[in-house]
Amino acid sequence: MILRQYQHARHRFRQLCQERGMRLDSVPLPHHRGPDGEVLSVDIAWAGATNPRKAFLCTSGMHGLEGPAGSAAQSAWLAQWDGQLPDNTGLCLVHALNPWGFAYRARGTENNVDLNRNFTRFDEPLPVNPYYQHIRDAIRLPSLTPQDLPKLIETYERLVGELGPAKFSVAVNAGQYEDAEGLAFGGAGIEHGHKAVAEHVLPALRETQALHFIDWHTGIGAYGEVAFLPNGKPGTHAYAACASMWGEAAITQWARSATEAAIEADEALTGTNTDKSGQLRHWLGAELGKAKVAGAVIEFGTERPQDIDKLVLCTLYDRWLRFENRTARTAADHRWALDLHADLFVPRDPAWEDLVLTRGPELMTQALEALQQ
Ligand SMILES: [Zn+2]
Repeated sequence: MILRQYQHARHRFRQLCQERGMRLDSVPLPHHRGPDGEVLSVDIAWAGATNPRKAFLCTSGMHGLEGPAGSAAQSAWLAQWDGQLPDNTGLCLVHALNPWGFAYRARGTENNVDLNRNFTRFDEPLPVNPYYQHIRDAIRLPSLTPQDLPKLIETYERLVGELGPAKFSVAVNAGQYEDAEGLAFGGAGIEHGHKAVAEHVLPALRETQALHFIDWHTGIGAYGEVAFLPNGKPGTHAYAACASMWGEAAITQWARSATEAAIEADEALTGTNTDKSGQLRHWLGAELGKAKVAGAVIEFGTERPQDIDKLVLCTLYDRWLRFENRTARTAADHRWALDLHADLFVPRDPAWEDLVLTRGPELMTQALEALQQ
């Protein structure tokens, strides 16, 4: 069962960790509480060797809206785990990297930061998004209601047409560090979830020689697919290790959505670099220089062609609510949009939920077992 409310999902996760005898560390988000006054916290659970030679790390809720799925996969795995680990092996489960977004149904953090664009160095020149300027003004809408949708879709289609799918995707999604009130903002400094990993996870992995990881997400991939974004391209150690964990066919041959297929075709045609900046999956390898780090963002696919207009509406609604409307997120007026947004990323569909609850734990077990090869 997928628990959609942060406090319920958190409670279940912590309870299972305690039952399995794991060491629990909580890193509460200061100055914020959830809609019911609950503590918002990144919870970090450890098992097995301290300072392990080999370790498996699994994170959820990087994008708050997607949190219920990753949390459910972690808890489903915990429920079936016997509590045993091989010698010299450590396990680290990080629950709700972006607890505010989980609780308030937002992709970004309390600071409008896309946390998976925030794993970058802020003491060095920040990446520049060459196409962001093309959408910067178009996303600033003084009013936003469902009646505005035809106009929004017209603008969306015009921009995709002008830039092409690959450059448009970079503009809206690759990350940018210039517009704090914009889309895919990577932040002006280290966010809470980034700090929690840097200060509470990395120090315990300094002796680790082989790290496998999964960062749970939803969205990418055709509806009901499991999409893999490994931390290395074919030919690298990381890619080979991912192939050994999950099978080369699984990590390459997942069905792309229509949007993703168009982006890939355009990318190949125009040579556009669509790499995203500031992602945990690349940062881990850079920070743990001594270790062989292999793993992936794994996404439970949700995209259906008929939902694109809703996705555009909900994405812009979130921005409008934060920076134009500025009333309480919990106000009844906003409920339809936040409900719709949440359901787009964690669909209320038993077959989709079943995919999370069965494939999720299997992929975690495979990543852990492959450490012993
Ligand atoms: Zn995501």
